[in-house]
Amino acid sequence: MSMIVKTELNRRGFFAYSSAAALTVGVSSRAMALEAEGASDYQYEVIRTEAEWRAQLSEFDYAILREGKTEKQKSSPHWNETAEGIYHCKGCDLPSYDGKWKVVLKKGWAFFYHAVPNNVLTGIDGIIPPEYGDSAAGFAALIETHCRRCGSHLGHLLIVEGIQTHCINGASLVFKSSTT
Ligand SMILES: [Zn+2]
Repeated sequence: MSMIVKTELNRRGFFAYSSAAALTVGVSSRAMALEAEGASDYQYEVIRTEAEWRAQLSEFDYAILREGKTEKQKSSPHWNETAEGIYHCKGCDLPSYDGKWKVVLKKGWAFFYHAVPNNVLTGIDGIIPPEYGDSAAGFAALIETHCRRCGSHLGHLLIVEGIQTHCINGASLVFKSSTT
């Protein structure tokens, strides 16, 4: 498959990217330092080696969940799924998003108004790029969401059509319908 969107927001390159961005837009270095501290101190409940992750996930899913890549729009059937049920983290099966908070938006990712409380964490993923269409693009932090239990990348917080949403890669989720 070749559905991975080329992105400059590689999590492994985060610090170099955000430092340059901070100089450009004046984001406080203190805020960046705090983010770095939080990222290094937090202990995930589920910890696997790279080999274990690669054995568990497809190459495509590994790029999304473990390297922070973004899938191509409408590449996952979850983008317009409307059935009732719960979306679980593909990395560790923790319930991440409830279908009752899902909204189908034509941008073509899985959008939710809220995550399952306490099961999704956030991090800074650089500055919101203009192509995201967010009203805060170019100056505000791009907030990444990841699993509280295993740290796998899920997506980002974005303002879409005037509403704060969780814009999530369908590849990061396993849907479990409550009606079947
Ligand atoms: Zn997880």
